Amino acid sequence: MSVPYKIEASEALLVGNSSEQPRASARIPIIARPFVSDRAKKTLDIIEKFVEEECIPADPLYSQQIGSGSVHERFSARPPILDDLKKRAKELGLWNMFLPKNHFKEGAGFSNLEYGLMAEYLGKSHIASEATNCAAPDTGNMEVFAKYGTQEQKDMWLKPLLAGEMRSAFLMTEPDVASSDATNIELQIERQGDEYVLNGSKWWSSGAGDPRCKIYIVMGKSDPKNSSLYKQQSVIFVPADTPGITIKRMLSVFGFDDAPHGHGHLIFENVRVPASNMCLGEGRGFEVIQGRLGPGRIHHAMRSIGAAEKALEYFLARMNDPRKKPFGKQLFEHGIMLERVARSRIEIDSCRLTVLNAALMIDSKDAKFALKEIAEAKVLIPDMLLKVLDRAIQAYGGAGVCQDTPLANMWAHGRTMRIVDGPDEVHMVQLGRNENKRGKWLLEKIEWQKKRSEEMARSYGFEKKDVLELNRQHSKAKL
Ligand SMILES: Cc1cc2nc3c(=O)[nH]c(=O)nc-3n(C[C@H](O)[C@H](O)[C@H](O)COP(=O)(O)OP(=O)(O)OC[C@H]3O[C@@H](n4cnc5c(N)ncnc54)[C@H](O)[C@@H]3O)c2cc1C
Repeated sequence: MSVPYKIEASEALLVGNSSEQPRASARIPIIARPFVSDRAKKTLDIIEKFVEEECIPADPLYSQQIGSGSVHERFSARPPILDDLKKRAKELGLWNMFLPKNHFKEGAGFSNLEYGLMAEYLGKSHIASEATNCAAPDTGNMEVFAKYGTQEQKDMWLKPLLAGEMRSAFLMTEPDVASSDATNIELQIERQGDEYVLNGSKWWSSGAGDPRCKIYIVMGKSDPKNSSLYKQQSVIFVPADTPGITIKRMLSVFGFDDAPHGHGHLIFENVRVPASNMCLGEGRGFEVIQGRLGPGRIHHAMRSIGAAEKALEYFLARMNDPRKKPFGKQLFEHGIMLERVARSRIEIDSCRLTVLNAALMIDSKDAKFALKEIAEAKVLIPDMLLKVLDRAIQAYGGAGVCQDTPLANMWAHGRTMRIVDGPDEVHMVQLGRNENKRGKWLLEKIEWQKKRSEEMARSYGFEKKDVLELNRQHSKAKL
């Protein structure tokens, strides 16, 4: 099946043909190259071309096809361009690249590191991730099904998700409790005969607005009296059309509704699902969410590197726009702008290494082994993205904050990355705590080194003395 639009040879742009920028595979950081297969390099070049020449130009059309109708219309829209891009991605073999080969047999057979390089390009377009079936939250949700699902659960939900025939949502956050601490979650999951009954509410349920979202992965409390705070929770699979579920409203992100995907506020009233929908087993909710969040956290970081590259591209384009000459000079002639470009380049390149390092750590064992590196990337990259975006926005002046560039929308999305999947502070406290475990030992080490230093000095006939010791008394000084 082919799609209704064609790329003319003459338009076959710049990607791979430009002397200004070699193709993606030639730009892989040298430190990562030994870990990237030839197949992954080839795929990377195809992804770059697909994103730059097909997805990015399709982004505005996608928004147009969603339309500007009522909330009901916007959250029922199914932009045809997306279905066409999905067909195109499948033709090109760009599908499900996110499932790492050393843990799952269902994916495209790439490592986390290889996918990390690819996800960077997906992050440059609003729709490229979905077009290649690599969009959140489906990616993390598919990992849950692949990792913890029974065969029956996989047949029912993983298969259509892998085929891109439906979408999914992950429902953990609640409006009435501080959900960054998941022990606070209150939604009740109560066993009644061979069913579970769910009561409570969830919000920030990303993807729930889309009518193609057919399955919710829901975290709630099944045993609130358990003496272990971490065994009170369960994760259960809930089909979106189960009676008793109301999508009460959609939430905006800095004014953007993110339709048709969106972020839902949902109410559960006596929602009944078969007991066989339990994931992994009652009381094992924490295990499931921890298993889900590792790779998912760096997927966001990988895409954010691409978003930062795109922001820098817009920045450079604006600096070279000959129509815009504040105070008689183009922006590239103002030194402060070049300094901002240089800073952005340094930050993006160093952040990329941090993300790839985290991916490599996961590849070398698993996400648990890479907790520190994942947390580092989770905190560092959104911070960098916001700085780079801010500089690009500034360079555009008024145009930077309106709909004439994608920068404002990218900033709104980027800003949420400091909150989603656990706010910065949670990761910082954890990182700080772990780092501080060496504190007592370091204090002892430094004291030991001081003593050793004195002993060494004595063995050479020196007494401990401050090199800047002066002992001057003006009253005794001879003038
Ligand atoms: C765009 C978007 C999409 C989302 N998608 C989903 C989704 O699909 N599914 C889902 O379940 N959730 C989703 N979320 C919710 C997100 O994961 C939560 O908002 C996040 O975990 C924080 O929880 P909370 O909002 O309850 O804030 P709270 O837990 O109330 O925290 C509020 C603030 O308290 C501070 N804080 C928290 N812990 C500490 C600490 N240890 N030390 C110091 N300060 C601290 C932080 O500044 C934090 O931002 C999404 C959120 C957004 C914005």
